[in-house]
Parts: sequence; structure tokens; C-alpha cells
Amino acid sequence: DFGLGSWPARRARINPGRTALTEAGRSLTYAGLADRVQRLAGALTRLGVRPGDRVAYLGVNAITVFETLFATARCGAIFVPLNYRLSPAEIRYMLDDSGASVLVHSADTADLVAAAGGLPGGVVLATAGTFEAELAEAGPAPETPVRLEDPCLLLYTSGTTGRPKAAVLTHGNLTWNTVNQLAHLDVLGTDKALCIAPLFHCVGLGQITLPTLFKGGSVEPVARFEPGTILARIGEAGITSFSAVPTMLEMLCRHEDWPRTDLSSLTCVLYGGSPVAERVARAWLDRGVKLLQGYGMTEASPGVSMATHEGTLDHPVAAGVPHFFTDVAALGPGLTPQPLDGTPAELLVRGPHVFGGYWNRPGESAASFVEDDWFRTGDVVRVDDDGWAHVVDRVKDMIISGGENVYPAEIEAAAVRLDEVDACAVVGVPDERWGEAGAAFVVVRPGAELDEPAFRAHLEQHLARYKIPKHVQFTDALPRNATGKIRRVELRARAAETFT
Ligand code: AMP
Ligand code: MG
Repeated sequence: DFGLGSWPARRARINPGRTALTEAGRSLTYAGLADRVQRLAGALTRLGVRPGDRVAYLGVNAITVFETLFATARCGAIFVPLNYRLSPAEIRYMLDDSGASVLVHSADTADLVAAAGGLPGGVVLATAGTFEAELAEAGPAPETPVRLEDPCLLLYTSGTTGRPKAAVLTHGNLTWNTVNQLAHLDVLGTDKALCIAPLFHCVGLGQITLPTLFKGGSVEPVARFEPGTILARIGEAGITSFSAVPTMLEMLCRHEDWPRTDLSSLTCVLYGGSPVAERVARAWLDRGVKLLQGYGMTEASPGVSMATHEGTLDHPVAAGVPHFFTDVAALGPGLTPQPLDGTPAELLVRGPHVFGGYWNRPGESAASFVEDDWFRTGDVVRVDDDGWAHVVDRVKDMIISGGENVYPAEIEAAAVRLDEVDACAVVGVPDERWGEAGAAFVVVRPGAELDEPAFRAHLEQHLARYKIPKHVQFTDALPRNATGKIRRVELRARAAETFT
């Protein structure tokens, strides 16, 4: 077994006494983790879990997420972490779609599990109750040969269009992503990583958490994102690293405790998942923090590119350079890969960390690759002469107005350069004259004042006329998903209703 499920035991052979995981009131060494994983795998086997079966998890970040992940992997089964911020109907859909035979949940999601209808015909384990009881009674798991090409994880993608679909990530995909991250980052066995991004998403799992556990460092899962608590914890625990989504970075650097927070223990802070406002990146860089943007997607386990420490000061909001074992190309005419350059084009990615397809979606899986193994990211990217990648926007978000391509992300980045603007999202609305026109939703910073003419005047300073949105609406907040991505489907509907 060379799969993820063998990691705790392999690390325990080298550094048994080191701390693997800590949370309030509980901490596990690698030897302790290996033992619990072994017994939990035994319990899962006794409950009927066999290689290829799915074990779902619904709950906030906690040590039990890791125990369940490793134990499931140890059985050769597939771990399915679910987003606890979804509705009961969405959870039901994912339980049915994945065909999970076991569902582990924490105390705070018991109601959600009940509302979703539980797991008819399957086994439901509560982390504070039946989970521990099963573990206590279990003997060691039988040896299961797990190969790197076997599936390890089903991760539902943010699914901004249509039914959510799960990327199938193999043990090999996750291992190679770990190798890529470690080739880019100086992760040490003495590191203490805070795990604040949710573990049902690849930023939470793949960017720093698995690499830290691989190196024998310690990881502290954080159940809820409370900026004040997290800032305090950094100094108190000597946290060396964490991964976040841009909205978290913003909330942290705006918190009242930010100026007096001791950040000196941090050796790197990673983020990704959506664009960051330049002022947010600067706030961290100005404090001397090694802040690195990563770009990727669930299908790539997730890393595709990452900033380097030497380059980040000159490129504070760029996506860095491709990972060590990652090939990138532009989608050219006739769906062929072409060299990437300064012209924005859809990015293709290839590498041993790139998934093989979606769960039970042969059509969509085939459609997402060209020439066999180049994954179509759906993102428009350009690469400057110095090799640095810039994420321009998603292909699907592009607005075609009067025959011109307009990238909402470019307008949004220009908008947030205005101090009064907290956040901005631009979507397309049908337009009789232009085919499509831009509609901007603008959130004004609390206490600041801004009217439409002043907003337009600002955009005109930074953008060509044809890019300026035709419609502007001020709003209290933008709809976002659990990882801070703007829910554009909702905004498009709102814009169509308001402006057409
Ligand atoms: P997900 O599959 O949920 O991880 O979302 C992946 C998508 O998030 C990518 O295809 C991009 O559209 C977006 N994304 C990820 N990282 C970045 C980044 N650094 N800058 C801008 N967009 C990003
Ligand atoms: Mg995607």
C-alpha cells in the first residue's frame, strides 16, 4: 500500500513522537494517528466498506476529518468530504450521486444530516458518539493493496453551472500534487500549519495541509473562521504557515487586532481560488509576510502554478510559475495545444496530478480533455515574458459586448482600486444594441460614500470605454460560496431582472 492511507504509519516509523494534528483539547502524535487510522480502517471494514466504496464526511475542519480520510484510503475506499454550508437537497444529491455507504458527521451537522434524509441502507457515524464506539471495538484492518492509480477522493467542484460534479482524484494525483508543492515551498518537519480553508475543498487539503503532514509537520484544523481568534492563534502557537482564500486574507488584514498581531512566526501564507485585490496582497507583503498566490482547480489536485518568494514583490497579484511536474499550454485553433504567451487564451494543463475524469460523467469527462491528457481548465490565462502566469478570467464569465471581449475580472480589479469600493462583481446582461452589456454590482466600504458618476469616472481612468459596464447597482454584499467565490449565476439572474 503506497496510498495516502499509508502516510501516517510511514511517518510514524520515522518520527513517532512528533505531533501530527492538534485542536482545542486534543492532540495526536504520528504514532497515535497511525494507531487510530489503523483501527478506524478496521471498523470501516467491519461495517462492510470495501475497496472502491465511498465514505462521505460532513462536518467542520477537525482531526476526525483526517482520521476518516486516511482510514478510508487505508481500506482502498474513496473519501467524499461534503460542504456543510449546502442545503439538505444538495447534500442529498451528493450522497446519492456518490453512492456513499458510510456517512461520518460531526455534532454540528446532525440536523443537516437528518434534514437531508440520512443514509438509507448505509451507516451513519457521529464523530462524538458511534464513531468512537466503533473505533474502540475495532481490531486492525486487513492489509489492502492500494495502487497510486486507484481513486482516493471525490471532490465536488464549486459547480457554478449545472449539477455539481465530483472530480475523482487518485492517490497518485494527490501524491504528485504534494511533490509539486514541496518543490515550490520550504515546508519543514518542524512546521505548524493552521488549516483554516475548509477541508471539503482542494485549497484546504492540497495546498499546504497534505504537504505538511507528508513532511511530518503538525497541522491544526480550525473549525470556524473567526479572524480575531486566528490572528491571536498565529502568535500564541507559533504558526508557520496556512492556506486561505482571498476573502479570508482580507478579513484578517482588516481586523482591528491586525496592527498589533505578531506575524513573525509565519514563513509562508498561501492563497488561491479566486483573484485577490492588490491592496489586500500589499497589506500582507508590507508586513514582511511571504505571501504566495497559488492558482489551480479541483481537477488538478489542485496546484497548477504558484508565485515564488523572489518574484512576489514585483508581481503581488499574479499566479506565479507552473509547478515542477506541470505542463501548461494554450488551447489553439482546432483544439490543439500551442505555446502560451502574452495573448490571453484558454489554459490547458497536463501532469501526474491532473485527474482522469469526473465521477459517473463519461461525456463531461471526455469533453474536458484535448489530445488525450490536456485538461481544459476553462480559465483564460496569459504568460508574460518572464514566465509569470496571470489569470485573466474564466472563459464562461467573459462578456462579448459589441463584438469586443470584456473580462469582468479586469473591471473588478480596477473597481477595487478605488478606496471606497469594498467589492465589485460584473456580469453580462442581454442588450439589444450590443448583444451583451456589463452590469456592475458594487459594495461600498462601510462609512464611505460613493455615487455612480464618481464610480464611472474612476473606471474611465483605468479602462477602455467599451469595457465600462452599462449598468451599475450598489448593493450591501455579493453572494459568495463557502470558498469565497462569487455566485455569478445568482447575479446574472438579478441583473437580467433589473436591467432588461
Ligand atoms: P475549484 O475547482 O473550485 O477549485 O475552482 C477552480 C477555479 O478557481 C479555477 O478554474 C479558476 O477559475 C479559479 N481560481 C483558482 N485560483 C485562482 C487564482 N489564483 N486567481 C484567479 N482565479 C483562480
Ligand atoms: Mg472549475
